[in-house]
Amino acid sequence: MNDVQHIDPQGQDEILLKVDGTPQCPRCGSDTVLLARYQHSWKNNRGEDVPGIKEAVLCRGCDQTDPEAAELLALFTVDEQVTPENLETFGGLAAAWVESVRQRTVDEALLAAQHELWCRGEL
Ligand SMILES: [Zn+2]
Repeated sequence: MNDVQHIDPQGQDEILLKVDGTPQCPRCGSDTVLLARYQHSWKNNRGEDVPGIKEAVLCRGCDQTDPEAAELLALFTVDEQVTPENLETFGGLAAAWVESVRQRTVDEALLAAQHELWCRGEL
């Protein structure tokens, strides 16, 4: 199985999913099952959109608690690999997982920004 390019139905969002040769988990050091590379734009301090690319890995150990990740991990457990038969399910679950990762990253960025303001006594 090679890399999978998932494009959402609206065609706005491109996600590259890699299932071969995925890196080790940055959190626990074990092998991961999936690497997703997705577009992630952020706003600079002038409020302009800055397009960027982010990566996320799916780890059997660390990601079980995330409902979207757990569903995706369940697919890997059942099917062990991505095949033409489960590709559609896989793409959908992977897109949902990337979306949840993206929300989480945004929240963290927001929290960090608020924390900074708070530290400077502006909040
Ligand atoms: Zn891990």
